[in-house]
Amino acid sequence: MENRDREGQEALKEFEGLFEVVAVRDEAQIVREFGRGLTFLKFSPILERAFQNYYLSKYAWQSRIAIIMGILLYASFGLLDAIVFPDLKSYFWFIRFGVVIPLGFLFLFFTFKVHDEAKIELLHSFVVIAGGLGIVAMIYLASTGKSYLYYPGLMLVIFYAFTLSALRFYYASAVALTITFTYPFVDLFILNTPKDQLLTNMFFLGSATILGMPVSYLLERHSRRDFLLTMLLAFEKRRTEELNVKLKDMSYIDGLTGVANRLRFEEFFRKEWARAKRAKRPISLLMLDIDFFKNYNDLLGHLEGDECLQMVAGAIGKHIRSDIDLVARYGGEEFVVVLPETNLRDALKVAERIRKDIENLAIAHPGSKVSKFVTVSIGVACLVPTNNLKKEALIRMADKALYRAKEKGRNRVEYYSSEDFNSKFTTSG
Ligand code: GH3
Ligand code: MG
Ligand code: MG
Repeated sequence: MENRDREGQEALKEFEGLFEVVAVRDEAQIVREFGRGLTFLKFSPILERAFQNYYLSKYAWQSRIAIIMGILLYASFGLLDAIVFPDLKSYFWFIRFGVVIPLGFLFLFFTFKVHDEAKIELLHSFVVIAGGLGIVAMIYLASTGKSYLYYPGLMLVIFYAFTLSALRFYYASAVALTITFTYPFVDLFILNTPKDQLLTNMFFLGSATILGMPVSYLLERHSRRDFLLTMLLAFEKRRTEELNVKLKDMSYIDGLTGVANRLRFEEFFRKEWARAKRAKRPISLLMLDIDFFKNYNDLLGHLEGDECLQMVAGAIGKHIRSDIDLVARYGGEEFVVVLPETNLRDALKVAERIRKDIENLAIAHPGSKVSKFVTVSIGVACLVPTNNLKKEALIRMADKALYRAKEKGRNRVEYYSSEDFNSKFTTSG
């Protein structure tokens, strides 16, 4: 079961690779191929190339094993030559070992060098035809008396073409038909085989071909179907993955302000805290709260309040390193800023810049008791995490600093330093 899972995974991966290469934009393009493409065993050019690559990767080893077995069998008949045709042995062996088998090895070599399914199958077909013609030649050399003895070899060649060789329908059929029609031609015009014998042989050869062709057709059709279905599956998988990424992004964003939400903050802060702890580096946190925001809403309305929140969020965003820091909406009108790798002094600078910038937005705030405009109070805290510190300590410190800023008159930045830091933030864990 596990094995099969792995196989499935690998097949999918293989297809994903394929997928990158194939410039198929939508599933409709694949679905269309289920009609004519399957019936005539030919897809539209882009998909046809992809299918041939797929077929090549899937059957390369089967065709190599096939040719090796074919060579061994073809060679083993050399023994029969010596027993049945001792006087013709040298001719037969020349055909076997001097012509057909070297061609087989050439093909084997070719399969490792060339990565083009059509060319590989073409050469394979030629080698198989050569094998068949080799037998026809031996039938010819054996002359009328014993010529019928090697005739069943042609059946074996046709059998090989339709089965183990993994030749696709058109190639296998071409091989079988070539052999089926070359044989009587030689027999009829060169050997003058008795008519009844020739007719009988034709019936047998023809029947083998007629039986082989539909099987070969159905096999290739199945392969193609398999290919299309897996392509569709890969499509589906990719779409699901894209959707998952989108959903995850959405679940991290605050709908109103477009900055990160609380969930994202928790995750980001946990990771950065752990990183700072490992590196023994400082990490700073800003906690920001709009002054007299309740009054703002009460006097101007909640929609205006929302707009104000958006502007404040935008202003904060301008002062952070987008690839390192994070702004998040912590609660209603409260924001947090995580500043990894930042000491207290620099964090205070950032905070002051943010405070000033928001004040400079000059958003009229009739309900404020400290300014004509919207202002914020910011609490700053900085720590180098240690094993007996919990990350919540930094949040509490920033919160305390914010409270202090509010107490001291708002529209200001305050911090909570290590000196203020009392033992209640220290835990033994
Ligand atoms: P302080 O200066 O002490 O912070 O006073 P404040 O009025 O800002 O403090 P308080 O926490 O009492 O009020 C926060 C207000 O923020 C309450 C609520 O009306 C408003 N608020 C919270 N979330 C939203 C929001 O999503 N949209 C709007 N428009 N207002 C919000
Ligand atoms: Mg508040
Ligand atoms: Mg407030």
